[in-house]
Amino acid sequence: MAPMVDIVDRYERFRRNVLNLQASENFICSHVRMALGSDLAARYSHIMPDGRNAYGGTEKIEEIYDEAESSIKTLFKSKFAEIRPTGGHIAAEICILSSVNKGGTFMAIPEEFGGYTGYMQSYLPDMFSMKYEPIPYNDITQEIKYDELEKRAKEVKPEAMILGQSFFVRHYDLKRIREIADSVNSKILYDGSHPMGLIAGKKFQPDALTYSDVLYGSTHKTFFGPQGGIILTNNEELFNKIETNTVWKTFDNYHPNHVAALGIAAQDLIQFGESYASWVVSNSQNLARTLEDSGIGVKYSPWYTESHQVILSKENSEKFGSFKEISRKLANNNIIVDTEGRIGTSEITRLGLTDMMKVGQVVSDGIKGKDVRKDVTEILRNTGVKYCR
Ligand SMILES: *Cc1c(COP(=O)(O)O)cnc(C)c1O
Repeated sequence: MAPMVDIVDRYERFRRNVLNLQASENFICSHVRMALGSDLAARYSHIMPDGRNAYGGTEKIEEIYDEAESSIKTLFKSKFAEIRPTGGHIAAEICILSSVNKGGTFMAIPEEFGGYTGYMQSYLPDMFSMKYEPIPYNDITQEIKYDELEKRAKEVKPEAMILGQSFFVRHYDLKRIREIADSVNSKILYDGSHPMGLIAGKKFQPDALTYSDVLYGSTHKTFFGPQGGIILTNNEELFNKIETNTVWKTFDNYHPNHVAALGIAAQDLIQFGESYASWVVSNSQNLARTLEDSGIGVKYSPWYTESHQVILSKENSEKFGSFKEISRKLANNNIIVDTEGRIGTSEITRLGLTDMMKVGQVVSDGIKGKDVRKDVTEILRNTGVKYCR
């Protein structure tokens, strides 16, 4: 039996020496880690319907909770916030349960166009006895086909339209979608799991909460962590409904350490969010261009991306191997990417990296099979941790 602490220790050392370019991840500042590893990780705090806390010793936990909630509301300028879900998926469950009736229909972007798998028929819709209908989408321009959506919505009469994608490089015309939704009396649910930190920094879909009924998603992709989910809305009636789908339905314990950590991350984003988000977007655009110039196929040229994601072109990068092989070749060079052809710039931006010619060059050389371990070490040597107070 290998002692677990040794394995974790080796893991921590491994992580310090790799360049992480996974679009779904971000690292957490040391004060966020401190909260996660604090005594709160072993506690309960649960305010009952009659206002009494079911547990004792919770006074400070309640204070932490209130402060985290108010920091999230300040960051997003939202009237209401539900900060307890322990993941974006759970936040999605709560929002769907609060907007769509059993037997009802919701529309979402198909998985084949980068939509979230959980919204496909055999997952959440089947679990909740609902029906999924695809939102018409143009893969080449990365845009919703608004006229077709309008036509289709009139036919299928959705109770909700769920926006947001896991492959997410272009914002939507939300004003137009609002008009369509209103014409069929549908809610708009905006799943901002990937761009949540960029929305907070007002550099991607800054009108998300203006036109949607609810904005929700993960807190650890472009957001500064910890892993979790949040739900934001300005609609009191909807918020009250949301509250009825939380405790004892989609979760019980909310992990008070995660809420404390979330509050710290939110306060960091209040301070640094705008600067961070603009660097993320310009880094991904520059990285995409460098990769393309060096012969690695990138999708959506010449604009490439408006977010933290750079999407490799399957056809044009195939000569260097499948996405899985590309991921393995880069891993051998201490560069971590997923096996789906997404490259993300949130984490390297927080290391203070801005020279995307250099980063793009090592990634492209690595994909081509060169040994770039020394260059990766060199790049990492000149980094520090940014955007942590
Ligand atoms: C990642 C993701 C989720 C799931 O979020 P978790 O925090 O992993 O539970 C939901 N929706 C979209 C669009 C995602 O990209």
